[in-house]
Amino acid sequence: MKVLITDDEITTRLTLRGLLSQHDCEIVEAASGLEALDVIQSDSPPNLIFMDWNMPDLSGVEVTTLLRETLSEDQPYVIIVSSYNADEQILEALSYGADDYITKPVDGNFLNAKFAVAKRIIDTQEKLKQSNEVLQKLAYYDELTGVLNRRAGNASFMVELERCVRNDQNLSVTMVDIDYFKNVNDTYGHQTGDIVLKEFANILRKTIRPYDIVCRYGGEEFLLIAEVNSCHEAQQLFERVRLAVNALEIKDGPLSLKITASFGVYVVTPSIQLSFDDMVKYADEALYQAKGEGRNRVIVKSALNDGDAPLQEAY
Ligand SMILES: [Mg+2]
Repeated sequence: MKVLITDDEITTRLTLRGLLSQHDCEIVEAASGLEALDVIQSDSPPNLIFMDWNMPDLSGVEVTTLLRETLSEDQPYVIIVSSYNADEQILEALSYGADDYITKPVDGNFLNAKFAVAKRIIDTQEKLKQSNEVLQKLAYYDELTGVLNRRAGNASFMVELERCVRNDQNLSVTMVDIDYFKNVNDTYGHQTGDIVLKEFANILRKTIRPYDIVCRYGGEEFLLIAEVNSCHEAQQLFERVRLAVNALEIKDGPLSLKITASFGVYVVTPSIQLSFDDMVKYADEALYQAKGEGRNRVIVKSALNDGDAPLQEAY
């Protein structure tokens, strides 16, 4: 925990530092309100601030008001430290957004008690933040493979489509399916199946370009979203991915497995304004054709309206 002591008087800073030294925390000091703001806005802001009220540039309550107004999250816990001890003054400090109040001269027992309260609240906030991050991750990512889930894939498609419209760039949506995956599960069990899914997701992520999007659509079906210039470029890109899948050796203990995958690609000019569901449907049709023609292949279809490309371009 990082603690900021803000006071224009060095004696108060020294006293507080001395009292806080028994606690497990990193202490930094500021000699004015402006200096305190610098620390608060730095890359490693404090979790707890002991803030003098009266300072020559910005007062402690002014700094507190500012940080309550400007910082959206990760708000520090603020304890105003002042020789004012009237009830109205304490209430005033709290009304500006301070969390607590200590009067000068600072009493060690009081300080320790207030520090303990602050630490309990800061620790609870930190735990909440961490579990929120985990929940957020679960909301967007597929737990098994670590790639985006279907919902996030849908949202990413909207963002990509928007970008493609702006840049007048064609967009491809590709449905990829591991060939005969059911056999893997039936022959070796679901744990091996899970390893295959993980390795497969990994090779997809590693082989496509870093700005392309991989999501698990469901079961052994994955969806790739990639900007392309032409059907030819899409064919080359996914051919490269297909060969990488072919080359993959998946190990599970003494077991070594090889897999293949079928790719159904649909390329579209963004001005056509197809929905995510439409794109998935057309990619699915291309995938169906790839399966029908013997699997382990890439079928590209398109509705490019640039005059040069045929409406249905199958490889
Ligand atoms: Mg002062």
